Amino acid sequence: MIQYSLHCSKGHTYDAWFKSAAAFDDQQARGIVTCAMCGDPEVEKAPMAPAVARTDQGKVSLSAGQPDAAKLRQLLRAYRQKVVSEAEYVGDRFAEEARKIHFEEAEARGIYGEATRDDVVALVEEGIEFLPLPDIADDN
Ligand SMILES: [Zn+2]
Repeated sequence: MIQYSLHCSKGHTYDAWFKSAAAFDDQQARGIVTCAMCGDPEVEKAPMAPAVARTDQGKVSLSAGQPDAAKLRQLLRAYRQKVVSEAEYVGDRFAEEARKIHFEEAEARGIYGEATRDDVVALVEEGIEFLPLPDIADDN
């Protein structure tokens, strides 16, 4: 089973379980994934990646073998560099700071840092959006 955060074109967001990623893709392609709140058929996975956090036993989502792997790697590296150069490094206070920003208790700004698996799960459950920061070495 895999849990996705889904959102419809009307802006509803909710969590739903699917047998597998392929099952979700298949159901979505056939147009039978509809919004739990309004029935909208234009449902997509939310841009954050809770599947990474929700995966059991500390597993992470990975991919390999794309023909454009080098290009993707370059994009990921550029993404990482942009984050690192523009965002504030908050170290292991990431969860705390992300929460403060989400609840407008701290200045809205880009941050990056580290979080434990438990923190990540808690943030997802609190509906706080974040993205994994790809860890790509500069020279490969
Ligand atoms: Zn909806």
